[in-house]
Amino acid sequence: MRYSQALIPTLKEAPAEAQVVSHVMLVRAGYIRKLAAGIYTLLPLGWRVVRKIEEIVREEMNRAGAQEVLMPAAVPAELWQESGRWQAYGAELLRFKDRKGADFLIGPTHEEVIVDIVRRDVKSYRQLPLNLYQIQAKFRDEPRPRAGVMRGREFIMKDAYSFHADEDDCKRTYQRMYDAYLAIFRRCGLAFRAVEADTGNIGGTLSHEFQVLATSGEDNIVACDHEACSYAANVEMAQIVPAEKATPAAAPREQVATPGQRTIEEVSGFFGVPAAALAKTLVYRRDFDPETGKGGTLVAAMVRGDRELNEAKLKRALDASTLELAGDAEVERATGAPVGFAGPVGLVVPVVADHEVLAMAEAIVGANAADGHLRHVVPGRDFQATAADLRVAVEGDACPRCGKGHFKAYRGIEVGHVFFLGTRYSKKMHCVFLGEDGKEHVMIMGCYGIGVTRTAAAAIEQNHDEGGIVWPMAIAPYQVTLLSLQPGDADVRRVSEELHEKLEAAGIEVLYDDRDERPGSKFKDADLVGIPLRVAVGKKSLAEGAVELKHRRDKEATKVPLAEIVATIEAKVAEELARGRT
Ligand code: ATP
Ligand code: MG
Repeated sequence: MRYSQALIPTLKEAPAEAQVVSHVMLVRAGYIRKLAAGIYTLLPLGWRVVRKIEEIVREEMNRAGAQEVLMPAAVPAELWQESGRWQAYGAELLRFKDRKGADFLIGPTHEEVIVDIVRRDVKSYRQLPLNLYQIQAKFRDEPRPRAGVMRGREFIMKDAYSFHADEDDCKRTYQRMYDAYLAIFRRCGLAFRAVEADTGNIGGTLSHEFQVLATSGEDNIVACDHEACSYAANVEMAQIVPAEKATPAAAPREQVATPGQRTIEEVSGFFGVPAAALAKTLVYRRDFDPETGKGGTLVAAMVRGDRELNEAKLKRALDASTLELAGDAEVERATGAPVGFAGPVGLVVPVVADHEVLAMAEAIVGANAADGHLRHVVPGRDFQATAADLRVAVEGDACPRCGKGHFKAYRGIEVGHVFFLGTRYSKKMHCVFLGEDGKEHVMIMGCYGIGVTRTAAAAIEQNHDEGGIVWPMAIAPYQVTLLSLQPGDADVRRVSEELHEKLEAAGIEVLYDDRDERPGSKFKDADLVGIPLRVAVGKKSLAEGAVELKHRRDKEATKVPLAEIVATIEAKVAEELARGRT
């Protein structure tokens, strides 16, 4: 491809709204352009990257036995009413009416559609298992679209859905998908971790996220630092080894006046003790249905004063369908005191406490009275609570799997998610088959997503320098950029043109910078665009019968004899592509 004929609109500055590296660079290097908030056009370079990722995804999905389909983006509301998600999905769902007034939506995910297809055409155990996938633009009206294509409203996803006669078979496919995802992200050249993930309302432990490690990531993950242990989990999921119970204190409980001292810092400062000597009590409203206004009983949850409560864990521990912090008035009603003075002693609502709280010798807690706290409160003696794992895991926590290592904390970008669904959709939507036993059974399902456009952005978060993007070879828009440094010079032009032809004939993807620009600006654009190999043809090196070859990662270029350059490039490209496959 000749740069002079390509649409690669590089910019000196990114728009002010671009805060994240990948967003800045995708805009500056001419890969994407914004159409509306969270909605982007992929320009030629951007589309080439996305196509590369899609091709890797396709190859590995096909290899794992999945079949590609393409479902419509416009979905009639009936299917989503059947599954209950037309109501439950909330404002992220883009709904519209057709000319006849019928309700439709743009698919944010396609469980309902695929279940409808399968229930119509699959009737017997002989037709199972089935694993169907598509690569398609999804629409989610995200409350805070940000970071360019990292969290867009319209974005490209690979979504796969598998159907099985029994759970064991589904688990085998789950494992094949897990392995396929490892292969996909390895081939994309990314440093990532597969981590145990929250399964939301479904329960069970069979869900993994694939997280690209990057300091700008939104997700917090922990991984065991022991070399022989592979435990890694989203902090929402990471199990914490229950603390050993301390010998209970003997001192009797005592109420202390603490006027105006509400926060952990204020109370620990007031008593002159560390935050870890306190236990905080938070009041939540569970199972509230905003549609009907029904439900919404209160519960109290406790963690040690220096810890953070993890709402995903609390939700699982309570088996609650919804969970939110109670409002001030509700807290007052439940505790008899203004916010800031809640405690477990004598509380009328049920109390769940983190293991660590119940292991304390004594604690300082709110007195359920305005301007008062209790000290020498002994768990088990002064209050009763259900024990649960409630706190956010932190670096240094003991590993629950191997018992030897400790957690290290990382930030991650979720690029993929595999999920054992069970009968969540198939039961509601009556997706059944006739078993070998001649009886009707509900199909067991798994679902498996990859954010294709997000993967491109995540790759940049992990691979860049001040000058621009540093693409892994497998997903770079081109493998080589060929710079003609003095296109006005007859020799330089001739050699550049020949090299362009030869490289293309050798099957190498080349972006040929034939523009009438100064060498400096060509080098700058080449760095920004981030193509892995750069060959520069210039008067100086040509005089020695050589051209200059540089890897985007390296500082210095090396001279390569003209006669050897095509073979050298072929070997380097092949070597880098092979690296991710091992
Ligand atoms: P998140 O927690 O980041 O919102 P999710 O759990 O809603 O993600 P899934 O429903 O599992 O995501 O979707 C599958 C994949 O699609 C995700 O792993 C992610 O890579 C990608 N994805 C989800 N939402 C977006 C978005 N708004 N923009 C780009 N990619 C997305
Ligand atoms: Mg989401």
